[in-house]
Amino acid sequence: MQHITILGATGSIGVSTLDVLARHPDKYKVHALTAHSKVEELAAQCAQFRPRRAVVGSAEAASQLASLLRAKDIRCDVSYGEAALCEVAAEADTVMAAIVGAAGLAPALAAARAGKKILLANKEALVMSGQLFMDAVHQNGAILLPIDSEHNAIFQSLPQSYARSPEGAGVAKIVLTASGGPFLSRAVETLEDVTPEQACKHPNWSMGRKISVDSATMMNKGLEVIEAHWLFGAPASQIDVVIHPQSVIHSMVSYVDGSVLAQLGNPDMRTPIAHALAFPERIESGVGQLDLTTIGTLQFEKPDFARFPCLALAFEALVAGGTSPALLNAANEVAVEAFLDRRIGFRDIDRVIARVMHENEHGAASSIEAVMAQDALARAAARTIVAGIAR
Ligand code: NAD
Ligand code: MG
Repeated sequence: MQHITILGATGSIGVSTLDVLARHPDKYKVHALTAHSKVEELAAQCAQFRPRRAVVGSAEAASQLASLLRAKDIRCDVSYGEAALCEVAAEADTVMAAIVGAAGLAPALAAARAGKKILLANKEALVMSGQLFMDAVHQNGAILLPIDSEHNAIFQSLPQSYARSPEGAGVAKIVLTASGGPFLSRAVETLEDVTPEQACKHPNWSMGRKISVDSATMMNKGLEVIEAHWLFGAPASQIDVVIHPQSVIHSMVSYVDGSVLAQLGNPDMRTPIAHALAFPERIESGVGQLDLTTIGTLQFEKPDFARFPCLALAFEALVAGGTSPALLNAANEVAVEAFLDRRIGFRDIDRVIARVMHENEHGAASSIEAVMAQDALARAAARTIVAGIAR
């Protein structure tokens, strides 16, 4: 029996994870569930999965949850705050890291330091602290399995010996596929005026609001390029992005002999979640079998960096190194939130990020404290810029 903590249980990835777990009660037991503010959803999840612990974002949310659970006669230890998130991340056998944004870094790192099996959805944690995070994984014997569909596909397309001896594997390129999001073919001039509702309407995937906006700007793919760099030890020059609007090929590895290995499937996150949960075995996920004859056509094109400046900014941050990706990530989080609140326009997102990156020096990512200081500085800088353009 594997005991699992789900960080971010009420989110899109959290709910898909619980859907897979519910299919295999003989294999998995939920140790802890966490949510920021969706107390009623969390209470319903606790009633179904009976975790030993539940963690929320505030004292008020904790007392609400405790009384909801009492009313249903459910025994569960309720706590709140970052320290409690780090505790539950260090207790189970397996941790699903599915909090969105920088808030997920401390608990994901706690899981790494405790040597856990980490299923990593929270790409922002790795973008911010890449080398430090990977060091914590290796030094503590943790196992890191990617949930992001592209990275899970690459992991499946690499030989299992790759982590031990990447040199002998003959990898020429890592090819990340990208759907291109909802604005792939919309006239560029009209992007100034798109609404949060339009930006969150992804053609293929149903996801949380922040990652949906990231997909519309293609910052999501930019963050994934940085994520791939750290997960697979590939330099920026070895990572390609290809637009593939159908999201059937989830990513590919191109080898020196001309072979290309890819992982395909219907676009449903339960596939990579089930893959990582059961690895190296396979379990049913609830996702239907892929029918290529129904899909008929798969298309591919090069990304247009003028349409998607966020993708270029992310490559720039990766090449600059140090705390540059932490600057990029923090500025993006602030800008996306401002866009979702209708304080700035869609195209202002890339303008805010570019200004934060170009008006602030980055430093060495020598410690988590240095990364968090850069994150705080970038957030303050981004908020000032947002205030200047807010409408
Ligand atoms: P979501 O917004 O649906 O859910 C986020 C979860 O994090 C919620 O449970 C919320 O309660 C929790 N949370 C939010 N802010 C928090 C805070 N300050 N402290 C503690 N908890 C907090 O997001 P999602 O779409 O499930 O994405 C989660 C992560 O997985 C993101 O990093 C995203 O990039 C990544 N990811 C998501 C998908 C997808 O299909 N949704 C695919 C690949 C990667
Ligand atoms: Mg992805």
